[in-house]
Amino acid sequence: MTDQHVPQNLPKRLQHFVAGEFVDSLDGATFDVLDVDRAVASARKAFDEGPWPRMLPRERARVLNRIADIVESRDERLAEWESFDSGLPITQALGQARRAAENFRFFADLIVAQADDTYKVPGKQVNYVNRKPKGVAGLITPWNTPFMLESWKLAPALASGCTVVLKPAEFTPLSASLWPEIFREAGVPDGVFNLVNGIGEEAGDALVKHEDVQLISFTGESATGQLIFANAAPTLKALSMELGGKSPAVVFADADLDAAIDSTVFGVFSLNGERCTAGSRILVERPIYDEFVRRYVERAKNIKVGDPHDPATEVGALVHPEHYAKVTGYIEIGKTEAKLAAGGGRPEGLESGNYVQPTVFVDVPPTARIFQEEIFGPVVAITPFDSDEEALELANDVKYGLAAYVWTSDLERAHNFGQRIDAGMVWLNSHNVRDLRTPFGGVKASGLGHEGGYRSLDFYSDQQAMHISLAPVHTPKFGA
Ligand code: NAD
Repeated sequence: MTDQHVPQNLPKRLQHFVAGEFVDSLDGATFDVLDVDRAVASARKAFDEGPWPRMLPRERARVLNRIADIVESRDERLAEWESFDSGLPITQALGQARRAAENFRFFADLIVAQADDTYKVPGKQVNYVNRKPKGVAGLITPWNTPFMLESWKLAPALASGCTVVLKPAEFTPLSASLWPEIFREAGVPDGVFNLVNGIGEEAGDALVKHEDVQLISFTGESATGQLIFANAAPTLKALSMELGGKSPAVVFADADLDAAIDSTVFGVFSLNGERCTAGSRILVERPIYDEFVRRYVERAKNIKVGDPHDPATEVGALVHPEHYAKVTGYIEIGKTEAKLAAGGGRPEGLESGNYVQPTVFVDVPPTARIFQEEIFGPVVAITPFDSDEEALELANDVKYGLAAYVWTSDLERAHNFGQRIDAGMVWLNSHNVRDLRTPFGGVKASGLGHEGGYRSLDFYSDQQAMHISLAPVHTPKFGA
Protein backbone atom coordinates (compact mmCIF):
# COMPACT_ATOMS: atom_id res chain seq x y z
CA MET A 1 0.00 0.00 0.00
CA THR A 2 1.12 3.58 -0.52
CA ASP A 3 1.49 5.92 2.45
CA GLN A 4 0.28 3.17 4.71
CA HIS A 5 -0.55 4.12 8.26
CA VAL A 6 1.77 2.18 10.57
CA PRO A 7 0.34 1.44 14.03
CA GLN A 8 2.43 2.17 17.09
CA ASN A 9 4.15 -0.44 19.28
CA LEU A 10 4.37 -3.09 16.58
CA PRO A 11 6.61 -5.98 17.67
CA LYS A 12 10.05 -5.84 16.01
CA ARG A 13 9.94 -9.56 15.35
CA LEU A 14 7.39 -12.25 15.96
CA GLN A 15 8.18 -15.04 18.38
CA HIS A 16 6.53 -18.27 19.37
CA PHE A 17 4.91 -18.53 22.79
CA VAL A 18 5.59 -21.83 24.55
CA ALA A 19 5.13 -22.85 28.18
CA GLY A 20 4.46 -19.26 29.22
CA GLU A 21 7.50 -17.74 27.51
CA PHE A 22 8.26 -15.97 24.27
CA VAL A 23 10.85 -18.02 22.39
CA ASP A 24 12.70 -17.73 19.08
CA SER A 25 12.57 -20.36 16.39
CA LEU A 26 15.05 -23.16 16.77
CA ASP A 27 17.66 -23.19 14.04
CA GLY A 28 18.10 -25.85 11.43
CA ALA A 29 16.38 -27.30 8.42
CA THR A 30 13.48 -28.85 10.34
CA PHE A 31 13.00 -25.98 12.78
CA ASP A 32 9.21 -25.73 12.32
CA VAL A 33 8.72 -29.35 13.30
CA LEU A 34 10.92 -28.93 16.37
CA ASP A 35 9.08 -25.76 17.38
CA VAL A 36 5.80 -27.63 17.10
CA ASP A 37 7.28 -30.44 19.22
CA ARG A 38 8.19 -27.98 21.96
CA ALA A 39 4.74 -26.40 21.89
CA VAL A 40 2.91 -29.73 21.96
CA ALA A 41 5.10 -30.97 24.82
CA SER A 42 4.24 -27.84 26.78
CA ALA A 43 0.51 -28.26 26.08
CA ARG A 44 0.71 -31.96 26.99
CA LYS A 45 2.38 -31.22 30.31
CA ALA A 46 -0.18 -28.54 31.15
CA PHE A 47 -2.94 -30.99 30.27
CA ASP A 48 -1.54 -33.94 32.24
CA GLU A 49 -0.23 -32.09 35.26
CA GLY A 50 -1.63 -28.57 35.31
CA PRO A 51 -4.75 -27.17 36.95
CA TRP A 52 -6.64 -26.06 33.82
CA PRO A 53 -8.44 -29.31 32.84
CA ARG A 54 -9.25 -29.96 36.49
CA MET A 55 -10.70 -26.56 37.34
CA LEU A 56 -14.42 -26.12 37.96
CA PRO A 57 -16.23 -24.80 34.89
CA ARG A 58 -17.12 -21.72 36.93
CA GLU A 59 -13.42 -21.00 37.55
CA ARG A 60 -12.52 -21.36 33.89
CA ALA A 61 -15.50 -19.18 32.97
CA ARG A 62 -14.15 -16.40 35.20
CA VAL A 63 -10.86 -16.49 33.31
CA LEU A 64 -12.69 -16.46 29.97
CA ASN A 65 -14.70 -13.43 31.03
CA ARG A 66 -11.49 -11.66 32.00
CA ILE A 67 -10.09 -12.48 28.54
CA ALA A 68 -13.21 -10.90 27.01
CA ASP A 69 -12.79 -7.78 29.17
CA ILE A 70 -9.14 -7.40 28.15
CA VAL A 71 -9.88 -7.95 24.45
CA GLU A 72 -12.61 -5.31 24.66
CA SER A 73 -10.37 -2.85 26.43
CA ARG A 74 -7.77 -3.25 23.63
CA ASP A 75 -10.17 -3.34 20.72
CA GLU A 76 -8.71 -0.23 19.09
CA ARG A 77 -5.12 -1.46 19.16
CA LEU A 78 -6.27 -4.83 17.96
CA ALA A 79 -8.23 -3.33 15.10
CA GLU A 80 -5.25 -1.16 14.11
CA TRP A 81 -2.90 -4.13 13.97
CA GLU A 82 -5.42 -6.31 12.19
CA SER A 83 -6.21 -3.64 9.63
CA PHE A 84 -2.49 -2.99 9.05
CA ASP A 85 -1.73 -6.68 8.66
CA SER A 86 -4.73 -7.77 6.60
CA GLY A 87 -5.91 -4.65 4.73
CA LEU A 88 -9.37 -4.89 6.32
CA PRO A 89 -11.15 -1.53 6.70
CA ILE A 90 -10.54 -0.26 10.21
CA THR A 91 -14.23 0.03 11.16
CA GLN A 92 -14.82 -3.59 10.16
CA ALA A 93 -11.66 -4.76 11.98
CA LEU A 94 -13.02 -3.08 15.11
CA GLY A 95 -16.29 -4.99 14.74
CA GLN A 96 -14.33 -8.24 14.48
CA ALA A 97 -12.33 -7.45 17.66
CA ARG A 98 -15.61 -7.03 19.53
CA ARG A 99 -16.93 -10.28 18.14
CA ALA A 100 -13.79 -11.99 19.43
CA ALA A 101 -14.55 -10.76 22.96
CA GLU A 102 -18.14 -11.92 22.58
CA ASN A 103 -16.99 -15.44 21.66
CA PHE A 104 -15.20 -15.73 25.03
CA ARG A 105 -18.21 -14.42 26.95
CA PHE A 106 -20.51 -16.79 25.13
CA PHE A 107 -18.48 -19.92 25.90
CA ALA A 108 -17.94 -18.77 29.50
CA ASP A 109 -21.73 -18.73 29.92
CA LEU A 110 -22.17 -22.02 28.13
CA ILE A 111 -19.64 -24.01 30.11
CA VAL A 112 -21.27 -22.96 33.37
CA ALA A 113 -24.73 -23.88 32.11
CA GLN A 114 -23.52 -27.19 30.61
CA ALA A 115 -25.63 -30.19 31.68
CA ASP A 116 -25.02 -33.78 30.69
CA ASP A 117 -27.41 -36.65 30.23
CA THR A 118 -28.34 -39.20 32.85
CA TYR A 119 -30.43 -42.28 32.03
CA LYS A 120 -32.33 -44.50 34.41
CA VAL A 121 -33.19 -48.16 33.76
CA PRO A 122 -35.63 -48.64 36.67
CA GLY A 123 -34.31 -51.03 39.29
CA LYS A 124 -31.29 -51.99 37.17
CA GLN A 125 -28.98 -49.18 36.18
CA VAL A 126 -28.24 -45.50 36.36
CA ASN A 127 -26.08 -44.35 33.50
CA TYR A 128 -24.56 -40.96 33.03
CA VAL A 129 -22.20 -39.01 30.80
CA ASN A 130 -18.84 -38.05 32.21
CA ARG A 131 -17.60 -35.17 30.07
CA LYS A 132 -13.84 -34.73 29.88
CA PRO A 133 -11.64 -32.35 27.91
CA LYS A 134 -10.21 -34.15 24.90
CA GLY A 135 -6.56 -33.23 25.37
CA VAL A 136 -4.21 -31.10 23.29
CA ALA A 137 -6.08 -29.17 20.62
CA GLY A 138 -4.32 -28.09 17.43
CA LEU A 139 -5.92 -24.93 16.04
CA ILE A 140 -5.09 -23.91 12.48
CA THR A 141 -6.58 -20.66 11.21
CA PRO A 142 -6.77 -18.58 8.00
CA TRP A 143 -5.86 -14.98 7.29
CA ASN A 144 -9.33 -13.52 6.83
CA THR A 145 -10.54 -11.92 10.10
CA PRO A 146 -7.67 -13.77 11.83
CA PHE A 147 -8.13 -12.67 15.44
CA MET A 148 -11.87 -13.30 15.45
CA LEU A 149 -11.52 -16.74 13.84
CA GLU A 150 -8.79 -17.67 16.33
CA SER A 151 -11.15 -16.70 19.17
CA TRP A 152 -13.88 -18.89 17.66
CA LYS A 153 -11.62 -21.89 18.30
CA LEU A 154 -9.69 -20.76 21.38
CA ALA A 155 -12.80 -19.92 23.43
CA PRO A 156 -14.56 -23.33 23.25
CA ALA A 157 -11.27 -25.25 23.44
CA LEU A 158 -10.23 -23.45 26.62
CA ALA A 159 -13.77 -23.49 28.05
CA SER A 160 -13.79 -27.28 27.67
CA GLY A 161 -10.50 -27.62 29.56
CA CYS A 162 -8.27 -28.49 26.62
CA THR A 163 -4.78 -27.08 26.26
CA VAL A 164 -3.95 -25.65 22.86
CA VAL A 165 -1.36 -25.02 20.19
CA LEU A 166 -2.42 -22.26 17.80
CA LYS A 167 -0.88 -22.01 14.33
CA PRO A 168 -2.13 -18.75 12.80
CA ALA A 169 -2.01 -17.98 9.08
CA GLU A 170 1.40 -16.91 7.84
CA PHE A 171 -0.03 -13.89 5.92
CA THR A 172 -1.41 -12.34 9.12
CA PRO A 173 0.48 -13.32 12.29
CA LEU A 174 0.42 -9.88 13.92
CA SER A 175 -2.81 -9.81 15.92
CA ALA A 176 -2.19 -13.36 17.20
CA SER A 177 0.95 -12.05 18.89
CA LEU A 178 -1.38 -10.20 21.30
CA TRP A 179 -2.89 -13.40 22.72
CA PRO A 180 0.00 -14.38 25.07
CA GLU A 181 -0.21 -11.10 26.98
CA ILE A 182 -4.01 -11.20 27.08
CA PHE A 183 -4.06 -14.77 28.40
CA ARG A 184 -1.34 -14.15 30.94
CA GLU A 185 -3.14 -11.11 32.35
CA ALA A 186 -6.41 -13.01 32.50
CA GLY A 187 -4.80 -15.80 34.54
CA VAL A 188 -4.50 -18.65 32.02
CA PRO A 189 -1.84 -20.97 33.53
CA ASP A 190 1.46 -21.33 31.65
CA GLY A 191 1.49 -24.06 29.04
CA VAL A 192 -2.28 -23.99 28.44
CA PHE A 193 -1.92 -21.67 25.45
CA ASN A 194 0.95 -22.10 23.01
CA LEU A 195 1.53 -20.24 19.77
CA VAL A 196 3.68 -21.40 16.89
CA ASN A 197 4.24 -19.22 13.85
CA GLY A 198 5.25 -20.92 10.65
CA ILE A 199 4.08 -21.93 7.25
CA GLY A 200 1.22 -24.34 6.76
CA GLU A 201 3.11 -27.07 4.96
CA GLU A 202 5.67 -27.24 7.79
CA ALA A 203 4.34 -26.01 11.14
CA GLY A 204 0.68 -26.76 10.32
CA ASP A 205 1.59 -30.14 8.89
CA ALA A 206 3.68 -31.07 11.95
CA LEU A 207 0.73 -30.26 14.21
CA VAL A 208 -1.64 -32.35 12.07
CA LYS A 209 0.71 -35.35 12.16
CA HIS A 210 1.71 -35.07 15.82
CA GLU A 211 0.98 -38.16 17.91
CA ASP A 212 0.27 -36.14 21.02
CA VAL A 213 -2.37 -33.85 19.48
CA GLN A 214 -5.89 -35.25 19.93
CA LEU A 215 -7.81 -33.00 17.59
CA ILE A 216 -7.43 -30.46 14.83
CA SER A 217 -9.86 -27.61 14.34
CA PHE A 218 -9.11 -26.16 10.93
CA THR A 219 -10.51 -23.22 9.00
CA GLY A 220 -9.22 -22.61 5.50
CA GLU A 221 -9.47 -23.71 1.91
CA SER A 222 -11.24 -26.91 0.93
CA ALA A 223 -8.11 -28.26 -0.80
CA THR A 224 -6.06 -27.75 2.39
CA GLY A 225 -8.84 -29.43 4.36
CA GLN A 226 -8.65 -32.51 2.12
CA LEU A 227 -4.92 -32.74 2.62
CA ILE A 228 -5.23 -32.39 6.39
CA PHE A 229 -7.93 -35.06 6.44
CA ALA A 230 -5.51 -37.51 4.81
CA ASN A 231 -2.54 -36.47 6.93
CA ALA A 232 -4.49 -36.82 10.19
CA ALA A 233 -5.63 -40.37 9.37
CA PRO A 234 -2.58 -42.28 10.70
CA THR A 235 -2.97 -40.72 14.15
CA LEU A 236 -6.81 -40.88 14.04
CA LYS A 237 -7.53 -37.35 15.16
CA ALA A 238 -10.89 -35.72 15.67
CA LEU A 239 -11.36 -33.15 12.91
CA SER A 240 -13.52 -30.10 12.54
CA MET A 241 -13.24 -28.45 9.15
CA GLU A 242 -14.64 -25.08 8.20
CA LEU A 243 -13.84 -24.69 4.51
CA GLY A 244 -14.54 -22.60 1.45
CA GLY A 245 -17.81 -21.37 0.00
CA LYS A 246 -19.58 -19.98 -3.05
CA SER A 247 -22.83 -19.06 -1.38
CA PRO A 248 -25.95 -18.07 -3.30
CA ALA A 249 -28.22 -15.14 -2.52
CA VAL A 250 -31.58 -15.87 -4.17
CA VAL A 251 -33.78 -12.84 -4.78
CA PHE A 252 -37.39 -13.54 -5.75
CA ALA A 253 -39.56 -10.96 -7.48
CA ASP A 254 -41.70 -10.49 -4.36
CA ALA A 255 -38.69 -9.52 -2.20
CA ASP A 256 -38.28 -6.19 -0.45
CA LEU A 257 -35.92 -4.91 -3.13
CA ASP A 258 -34.37 -2.06 -1.14
CA ALA A 259 -33.45 -4.41 1.71
CA ALA A 260 -32.25 -7.13 -0.68
CA ILE A 261 -29.94 -4.71 -2.47
CA ASP A 262 -28.46 -3.29 0.76
CA SER A 263 -27.89 -6.79 2.04
CA THR A 264 -26.49 -8.43 -1.08
CA VAL A 265 -24.10 -5.52 -1.66
CA PHE A 266 -22.88 -5.78 1.94
CA GLY A 267 -22.88 -9.58 1.78
CA VAL A 268 -20.18 -9.75 -0.86
CA PHE A 269 -18.19 -6.52 -0.47
CA SER A 270 -17.82 -6.38 3.32
CA LEU A 271 -14.48 -7.64 4.68
CA ASN A 272 -13.06 -6.95 1.19
CA GLY A 273 -15.06 -9.93 -0.07
CA GLU A 274 -12.56 -12.14 1.79
CA ARG A 275 -15.35 -13.82 3.65
CA CYS A 276 -16.19 -17.51 3.69
CA THR A 277 -19.95 -16.87 3.85
CA ALA A 278 -19.94 -14.13 1.15
CA GLY A 279 -23.05 -14.23 -1.03
CA SER A 280 -20.88 -14.26 -4.12
CA ARG A 281 -23.51 -15.59 -6.53
CA ILE A 282 -26.72 -13.60 -6.74
CA LEU A 283 -29.64 -15.33 -8.45
CA VAL A 284 -32.43 -12.94 -9.39
CA GLU A 285 -35.93 -13.75 -10.65
CA ARG A 286 -36.42 -12.54 -14.21
CA PRO A 287 -39.24 -9.93 -13.69
CA ILE A 288 -37.00 -7.82 -11.43
CA TYR A 289 -33.65 -8.78 -13.00
CA ASP A 290 -33.02 -5.60 -15.02
CA GLU A 291 -34.01 -3.27 -12.22
CA PHE A 292 -31.98 -5.25 -9.67
CA VAL A 293 -28.89 -5.22 -11.87
CA ARG A 294 -29.20 -1.49 -12.63
CA ARG A 295 -29.51 -0.54 -8.97
CA TYR A 296 -26.89 -3.04 -7.80
CA VAL A 297 -24.32 -1.82 -10.31
CA GLU A 298 -24.95 1.80 -9.33
CA ARG A 299 -24.25 0.96 -5.70
CA ALA A 300 -21.17 -1.13 -6.46
CA LYS A 301 -19.64 1.73 -8.49
CA ASN A 302 -20.21 4.04 -5.54
CA ILE A 303 -18.43 1.93 -2.90
CA LYS A 304 -15.51 3.72 -1.31
CA VAL A 305 -12.31 1.77 -1.87
CA GLY A 306 -9.24 3.12 -0.11
CA ASP A 307 -6.78 3.20 2.74
CA PRO A 308 -7.87 0.57 5.29
CA HIS A 309 -7.03 3.03 8.08
CA ASP A 310 -9.56 5.62 6.86
CA PRO A 311 -12.86 5.20 8.75
CA ALA A 312 -14.74 6.15 5.58
CA THR A 313 -13.28 3.19 3.66
CA GLU A 314 -15.76 0.44 2.77
CA VAL A 315 -13.40 -1.86 0.83
CA GLY A 316 -9.72 -1.85 1.77
CA ALA A 317 -6.72 -3.64 0.27
CA LEU A 318 -6.54 -7.38 -0.32
CA VAL A 319 -4.38 -9.27 2.12
CA HIS A 320 -1.32 -10.11 0.03
CA PRO A 321 0.08 -9.67 -3.52
CA GLU A 322 -0.36 -13.43 -4.08
CA HIS A 323 -4.04 -13.21 -3.26
CA TYR A 324 -4.35 -10.00 -5.30
CA ALA A 325 -2.97 -11.91 -8.30
CA LYS A 326 -5.52 -14.69 -7.73
CA VAL A 327 -8.50 -12.32 -7.51
CA THR A 328 -7.47 -10.19 -10.51
CA GLY A 329 -6.78 -13.40 -12.43
CA TYR A 330 -10.40 -14.44 -11.84
CA ILE A 331 -11.59 -11.02 -12.99
CA GLU A 332 -9.76 -11.54 -16.29
CA ILE A 333 -11.33 -14.99 -16.63
CA GLY A 334 -14.73 -13.45 -15.86
CA LYS A 335 -14.33 -10.98 -18.70
CA THR A 336 -14.20 -13.91 -21.13
CA GLU A 337 -17.17 -15.70 -19.53
CA ALA A 338 -19.80 -13.06 -18.79
CA LYS A 339 -20.70 -9.38 -19.07
CA LEU A 340 -18.69 -7.01 -16.88
CA ALA A 341 -21.08 -4.42 -15.43
CA ALA A 342 -18.93 -2.67 -12.79
CA GLY A 343 -15.30 -2.56 -11.73
CA GLY A 344 -12.93 -5.01 -13.35
CA GLY A 345 -9.61 -3.44 -12.42
CA ARG A 346 -7.67 -1.14 -10.14
CA PRO A 347 -9.51 1.86 -8.68
CA GLU A 348 -8.44 5.24 -9.99
CA GLY A 349 -5.95 7.07 -7.81
CA LEU A 350 -4.73 3.89 -6.08
CA GLU A 351 -1.83 3.08 -8.33
CA SER A 352 -0.08 0.70 -5.95
CA GLY A 353 -1.19 -1.68 -3.23
CA ASN A 354 -3.59 -4.61 -3.44
CA TYR A 355 -6.65 -2.56 -4.37
CA VAL A 356 -9.44 -3.97 -6.54
CA GLN A 357 -12.61 -2.23 -7.70
CA PRO A 358 -15.84 -3.84 -6.52
CA THR A 359 -16.55 -5.95 -9.57
CA VAL A 360 -19.93 -7.09 -10.85
CA PHE A 361 -20.45 -9.64 -13.60
CA VAL A 362 -23.97 -10.12 -14.95
CA ASP A 363 -25.73 -12.75 -17.08
CA VAL A 364 -23.20 -15.23 -15.71
CA PRO A 365 -23.80 -18.78 -16.99
CA PRO A 366 -23.64 -21.51 -14.33
CA THR A 367 -20.84 -23.20 -16.23
CA ALA A 368 -18.56 -20.17 -15.81
CA ARG A 369 -15.58 -20.57 -13.50
CA ILE A 370 -16.55 -17.30 -11.78
CA PHE A 371 -19.89 -18.96 -10.93
CA GLN A 372 -18.36 -22.23 -9.71
CA GLU A 373 -15.10 -21.32 -7.96
CA GLU A 374 -14.39 -19.40 -4.78
CA ILE A 375 -12.70 -16.09 -5.64
CA PHE A 376 -12.56 -14.69 -2.09
CA GLY A 377 -12.48 -11.06 -3.17
CA PRO A 378 -14.83 -8.18 -4.06
CA VAL A 379 -16.27 -9.94 -7.11
CA VAL A 380 -19.87 -11.02 -7.61
CA ALA A 381 -21.67 -13.08 -10.26
CA ILE A 382 -25.33 -12.25 -11.02
CA THR A 383 -27.54 -14.73 -12.89
CA PRO A 384 -31.26 -14.62 -13.77
CA PHE A 385 -33.78 -17.43 -13.17
CA ASP A 386 -37.38 -18.10 -14.22
CA SER A 387 -38.80 -20.55 -11.66
CA ASP A 388 -38.29 -21.82 -8.11
CA GLU A 389 -37.01 -25.13 -9.48
CA GLU A 390 -34.46 -23.43 -11.69
CA ALA A 391 -33.35 -21.21 -8.80
CA LEU A 392 -32.84 -24.28 -6.60
CA GLU A 393 -30.87 -26.06 -9.29
CA LEU A 394 -28.62 -23.03 -9.76
CA ALA A 395 -28.22 -22.57 -6.01
CA ASN A 396 -27.11 -26.18 -5.53
CA ASP A 397 -25.07 -26.49 -8.72
CA VAL A 398 -21.63 -25.94 -7.12
CA LYS A 399 -19.34 -28.14 -5.08
CA TYR A 400 -19.67 -25.91 -2.02
CA GLY A 401 -22.48 -25.68 0.54
CA LEU A 402 -21.64 -23.19 3.26
CA ALA A 403 -24.31 -20.46 3.43
CA ALA A 404 -27.35 -19.29 1.46
CA TYR A 405 -29.53 -16.19 1.59
CA VAL A 406 -33.15 -16.16 0.40
CA TRP A 407 -35.14 -13.00 -0.30
CA THR A 408 -38.91 -13.33 -0.60
CA SER A 409 -42.02 -12.06 1.18
CA ASP A 410 -43.75 -15.43 0.80
CA LEU A 411 -43.26 -17.19 4.13
CA GLU A 412 -44.11 -20.66 2.83
CA ARG A 413 -41.70 -20.37 -0.08
CA ALA A 414 -39.00 -18.98 2.20
CA HIS A 415 -39.05 -22.06 4.44
CA ASN A 416 -39.60 -24.66 1.74
CA PHE A 417 -37.00 -23.25 -0.60
CA GLY A 418 -34.50 -22.54 2.17
CA GLN A 419 -34.76 -26.07 3.53
CA ARG A 420 -33.98 -27.58 0.12
CA ILE A 421 -30.75 -25.67 -0.40
CA ASP A 422 -27.54 -27.64 0.13
CA ALA A 423 -26.05 -25.26 2.67
CA GLY A 424 -25.05 -25.56 6.29
CA MET A 425 -26.58 -22.17 7.11
CA VAL A 426 -29.50 -20.30 5.53
CA TRP A 427 -30.62 -16.76 6.22
CA LEU A 428 -34.10 -15.66 5.19
CA ASN A 429 -34.34 -11.96 4.33
CA SER A 430 -31.00 -11.16 5.93
CA HIS A 431 -27.28 -11.27 5.39
CA ASN A 432 -25.05 -13.23 7.78
CA VAL A 433 -26.18 -12.29 11.29
CA ARG A 434 -24.87 -14.95 13.65
CA ASP A 435 -26.61 -16.46 16.64
CA LEU A 436 -23.73 -18.16 18.45
CA ARG A 437 -26.00 -20.96 19.69
CA THR A 438 -26.83 -22.24 16.20
CA PRO A 439 -24.73 -24.76 14.23
CA PHE A 440 -21.89 -23.23 12.25
CA GLY A 441 -20.40 -25.12 9.34
CA GLY A 442 -20.91 -26.27 5.81
CA VAL A 443 -21.91 -29.32 3.78
CA LYS A 444 -20.30 -30.80 0.64
CA ALA A 445 -16.87 -29.23 0.03
CA SER A 446 -17.55 -26.50 2.62
CA GLY A 447 -16.83 -28.51 5.70
CA LEU A 448 -16.99 -31.42 7.99
CA GLY A 449 -18.78 -31.27 11.31
CA HIS A 450 -20.57 -28.33 12.84
CA GLU A 451 -19.41 -26.12 15.65
CA GLY A 452 -21.51 -23.46 17.37
CA GLY A 453 -23.10 -23.54 20.81
CA TYR A 454 -22.89 -26.88 22.59
CA ARG A 455 -21.62 -28.54 19.41
CA SER A 456 -18.30 -26.77 19.91
CA LEU A 457 -18.03 -28.00 23.49
CA ASP A 458 -18.87 -31.52 22.28
CA PHE A 459 -16.06 -31.36 19.74
CA TYR A 460 -13.49 -30.39 22.36
CA SER A 461 -14.68 -33.01 24.91
CA ASP A 462 -14.96 -36.73 25.23
CA GLN A 463 -18.25 -37.98 26.53
CA GLN A 464 -17.54 -41.08 28.55
CA ALA A 465 -20.52 -43.35 29.27
CA MET A 466 -20.57 -44.42 32.94
CA HIS A 467 -22.83 -47.39 33.80
CA ILE A 468 -23.79 -48.20 37.38
CA SER A 469 -25.65 -51.39 38.29
CA LEU A 470 -28.33 -51.07 40.96
CA ALA A 471 -28.94 -54.82 41.21
CA PRO A 472 -27.05 -58.06 40.51
CA VAL A 473 -26.46 -58.35 36.78
CA HIS A 474 -27.45 -61.50 34.90
CA THR A 475 -24.13 -63.00 33.77
CA PRO A 476 -23.92 -66.15 31.60
CA LYS A 477 -21.57 -68.49 33.49
CA PHE A 478 -18.96 -69.42 30.86
CA GLY A 479 -16.71 -72.30 31.93
CA ALA A 480 -18.72 -72.90 35.13
P1 NAD B 1 -5.44 -21.99 3.63
O1 NAD B 1 -6.11 -23.31 3.54
O2 NAD B 1 -4.44 -21.64 2.61
O3 NAD B 1 -4.70 -21.83 5.03
C1 NAD B 1 -5.38 -21.94 6.27
C2 NAD B 1 -4.40 -22.36 7.35
O4 NAD B 1 -3.92 -23.67 7.07
C3 NAD B 1 -3.15 -21.47 7.44
O5 NAD B 1 -2.79 -21.31 8.80
C4 NAD B 1 -2.11 -22.30 6.72
O6 NAD B 1 -0.80 -22.02 7.14
C5 NAD B 1 -2.50 -23.70 7.11
N1 NAD B 1 -2.05 -24.77 6.21
C6 NAD B 1 -1.80 -24.69 4.88
N2 NAD B 1 -1.39 -25.89 4.42
C7 NAD B 1 -1.38 -26.74 5.45
C8 NAD B 1 -1.06 -28.13 5.60
N3 NAD B 1 -0.67 -28.87 4.59
N4 NAD B 1 -1.18 -28.68 6.83
C9 NAD B 1 -1.60 -27.95 7.88
N5 NAD B 1 -1.91 -26.63 7.81
C10 NAD B 1 -1.81 -26.04 6.60
O7 NAD B 1 -6.62 -20.93 3.67
P2 NAD B 1 -6.48 -19.33 3.65
O8 NAD B 1 -6.15 -18.92 2.24
O9 NAD B 1 -5.65 -18.89 4.79
O10 NAD B 1 -7.98 -18.90 4.01
C11 NAD B 1 -8.99 -18.67 3.08
C12 NAD B 1 -9.93 -19.87 2.99
O11 NAD B 1 -10.52 -20.12 4.27
C13 NAD B 1 -11.08 -19.66 2.05
O12 NAD B 1 -11.28 -20.82 1.29
C14 NAD B 1 -12.27 -19.43 2.98
O13 NAD B 1 -13.53 -19.72 2.45
C15 NAD B 1 -11.92 -20.31 4.11
N6 NAD B 1 -12.65 -19.91 5.32
C16 NAD B 1 -13.66 -20.70 5.78
C17 NAD B 1 -14.39 -20.32 6.89
C18 NAD B 1 -15.50 -21.19 7.42
O14 NAD B 1 -15.90 -20.99 8.55
N7 NAD B 1 -16.03 -22.12 6.66
C19 NAD B 1 -14.07 -19.14 7.56
C20 NAD B 1 -13.03 -18.36 7.06
C21 NAD B 1 -12.32 -18.76 5.95
